[in-house]
Amino acid sequence: MNQGLNAVITGSTSGIGQGIAEAFAKAGMNIMLNGFGDPNEIETLRARLAATHGVRVAYHGADMTKPGEIADLMATAEADIGPLDVVVNNAGIQKVAPIEDFPVEKWDEILAINLSAAFHTTRLAIAGMKARGFGRIINTASVQGLIGSPFKTAYVAAKHGIIGLTKAVAMEGADYGVTANAICPGMVATPLVEKQIPDLARQSGLTEAETLADMLASNQPTRRIITVEEIGALATFLCSDAAKSITGAALPIDGGWTAR
Ligand code: NAD
Repeated sequence: MNQGLNAVITGSTSGIGQGIAEAFAKAGMNIMLNGFGDPNEIETLRARLAATHGVRVAYHGADMTKPGEIADLMATAEADIGPLDVVVNNAGIQKVAPIEDFPVEKWDEILAINLSAAFHTTRLAIAGMKARGFGRIINTASVQGLIGSPFKTAYVAAKHGIIGLTKAVAMEGADYGVTANAICPGMVATPLVEKQIPDLARQSGLTEAETLADMLASNQPTRRIITVEEIGALATFLCSDAAKSITGAALPIDGGWTAR
């Protein structure tokens, strides 16, 4: 149903972004990948997605803290895969520390990648979407965009911010067939989550295995870690014609985390 749509997915060399790229390619969508990583592994991913699904897949290594590189990413995407129908703002980083010890440069970096980058990609893509009468902006927020957690001030602030950005963009796109939505995952099995566990274990005095089990038990009523395939399926649906009336939403996919 999404056959032939052209999508930029930031932070798609790993985790949730890669899961969305796999789902989009399977649905017949052309993709501009972005993110850091080993160049050979990224090329293997790019070539596999293109060959397996018969779609155009390109890659651009823009650093999402840098507006000039983001502009180059968006221009290159239009040149390589075609006019952009879909932008997924997914690149994100995390840092866990009490606010009194929170490194100032990390605050700036998290706000730049997790929030400001979405402003830049959206401002560059939306005019074309409005002119063509179709567009889908999908922002990977988090349950941390809906609630607060200790030791994650920059992340929580950025994720609340991106939900606000999503709502404002939804208003601007409403007359033009352009929707904007935020996906709010709970705990998903990706490197970003795995990297937090040692710090949290140190702060709580538990082992890493106990910390993970404890995090699931206390936060996610289903007690099951979410897969990137589940997030990819939701993002694919949001691109479809059937989702045209879903806009300005912050959609939890969190095993019930925010239901209580
Ligand atoms: P991940 O670490 O597996 O992937 C992050 C991606 O972002 C990678 O491709 C990385 O190269 C890229 N990236 C990081 N810094 C970048 C930069 N400066 N420029 C360009 N690319 C950059 O993490 P993930 O868990 O897949 O997270 C993806 C998104 O999902 C993030 O926005 C994160 O906040 C959000 N999220 C994750 C979870 C979870 O449980 N994993 C839950 C809620 C929300």
